[in-house]
Amino acid sequence: MYPFEIGPIRPVDEADSLLIRTTRNCPWNKCEFCVNYQHENFSIRSVEEIKNDIEKTANYYSNNRFERCFLQDGDSLIMRTADLLDILTYLKTFFPDLKTISSYGRAWSMSRKSPAELNEICEAGLNLLYCGMESGADEVLEMVNKGVSSKEIISAGIHAKEAGMRLSEFVISGLGGRELWQVHAKETAKALNAINADKIRVLTIGVKPGSGLEQKIADGSYTLQTEENIIEEQKMMVHHLNGITSHYAHHHAVDLLLEVRGQLPKDKDYLLSIFDRFLDLSDNYKRNFILGRRLGFYNRLDDLHERNNYNTVEKQFQKFGINSNFELENLYHSLRSQIV
Ligand code: SF4
Repeated sequence: MYPFEIGPIRPVDEADSLLIRTTRNCPWNKCEFCVNYQHENFSIRSVEEIKNDIEKTANYYSNNRFERCFLQDGDSLIMRTADLLDILTYLKTFFPDLKTISSYGRAWSMSRKSPAELNEICEAGLNLLYCGMESGADEVLEMVNKGVSSKEIISAGIHAKEAGMRLSEFVISGLGGRELWQVHAKETAKALNAINADKIRVLTIGVKPGSGLEQKIADGSYTLQTEENIIEEQKMMVHHLNGITSHYAHHHAVDLLLEVRGQLPKDKDYLLSIFDRFLDLSDNYKRNFILGRRLGFYNRLDDLHERNNYNTVEKQFQKFGINSNFELENLYHSLRSQIV
C-alpha cells in the first residue's frame, strides 16, 4: 500500500516511470471494447490533492532520480490549463531530473486546447501523449462508440505535434471484426499517414467479459476474426503506411507476432516479410505457433525451430480436446483475452 494514490493503468512504455494521478478513471468511459474503468465515475483531482501526492512520492522515492513520469488516469488534458501548468511546475520542482512527462490524451480534450495552450503545456514539461486512436475508420469508430471521428483524431494528433509534443498512437488490430477488417486496415493507415506520429503501437483485440463488444458477438452484429485474418489485416495496414517516419511496433503480449518492430520507412519491407513468414507457414505449423504463443511456449517465429517446443504444443491440442476450427479460434481468443 502506497501513501499516495495510484491509478490502475499505465502504458507498457511507462513500466518504470513515476506515476502521478491527476484524474480518476475516464471522462468518456463508453468505448464498447473497454472495461478499464467500467462503472467508475470520472473526477479531476484537486490541485491541492495532486500536490500533496507529489510531495509524498518525492519522500517515498527519495533515492530514485526519475527521468520519466506518467500522469494517470484516462485524460490529464481535460484539466484546466492553469491547473495543469501549476502541477507540472510543482512536479519538476520535486523531481528536477524529469525529461519526459506523459499522459493519455483523448482527441476531444486535445482539440479543445488552443495551439498556444498546448505549446505552453509542452514547454512546462508534458511532452509526450499516448492517444488511443484504435481505428482510423469512421465505421469502426462508430461501431465501438469511440466518441470521436477520424477527422478529429487526425487534427488532434497534428495539433499536438505542432505544439512540440511527441505522440504515440495506439491501434487495435481486429477491432473491425470480420465485417469491417479491410476498411479498418486501410483507413487506419490513412489516418496514421496524415498524423505521422512518433510511435505507432499495435494491440490485438481481446474481447473482455462484460464489454459492449461481447454483447455484439452475442447478438451477431460483430464477428471475431481468426488469428490468421488479423495478421492479414496487420499486413494490409503496414502495406498502406506511406510517407511517414513513425516507429512501428507490436509490443504487447496480446500480439501474435512480437518481432514486428521497426522504423518506418526503412524497415517497411522487413515488417511485411515477418507477416509473410507467418502466412506462408503450413496450416499445421500455423496452428502450432498460435497455440504455442498463446500458451507462452513461443515468443517469436524463430522459436518454432525448437522441435521439443513443437511437440509439447502438439500435446496441448489433445489436452484441450479441440474438434473444430471454430473451437480452436475460440480457445485462442479466450487465452488472448485473459492477458491484461
Ligand atoms: S478506451 Fe480510453 S476513452 Fe475509451 S472508455 Fe477506455 S479509457 Fe475511456
